[in-house]
Amino acid sequence: MKISHNSAVIFNYSIKDEHGTLLESNANEHVGYIHGSGTTLPGFEAALDQKEAGYTTTIVLSPEEAFGHHDESLIIQVPIDDFHGQDLSLNMEFVMDEGEADEAGTIVWRISELGDETVTLDGNHPYAGKTLTFDIEVKEVRTATDEELEHGHLHFEGDEHHHHDN
Ligand SMILES: [Zn+2]
Repeated sequence: MKISHNSAVIFNYSIKDEHGTLLESNANEHVGYIHGSGTTLPGFEAALDQKEAGYTTTIVLSPEEAFGHHDESLIIQVPIDDFHGQDLSLNMEFVMDEGEADEAGTIVWRISELGDETVTLDGNHPYAGKTLTFDIEVKEVRTATDEELEHGHLHFEGDEHHHHDN
């Protein structure tokens, strides 16, 4: 079966930066996406379009094609009092309340510095500014189920059953 619109694509991957340093891989985790759903990088989908299980490839994505350039305006300082005594730690990530995200989508903020008075938040993607090399192996291609299409993600055996309210 060839990968096309609404295919469930299950794959192995690793990501390296421009120095060949391994940033992440799926290891033994099941990972996959719904082809054409726009939930993964366009360059990634394009590389796998019409391919089949067993296909392996290496794709290199520039910052423009991957997670963008580092943006200084996404580094902000917030008074620690704004966190109302919440337990904070370095590299902790959180998403602003709905409505505060701009039209570019939801921003995940990471605590990059933790002072006594102020907290520095970095809204850049951890891979911003990086040219990324993806090694990909397509493991399985099947048709996404109606439920998966509705959720916008794949379900794997052993996953906790879940519902989405929206
Ligand atoms: Zn789901």
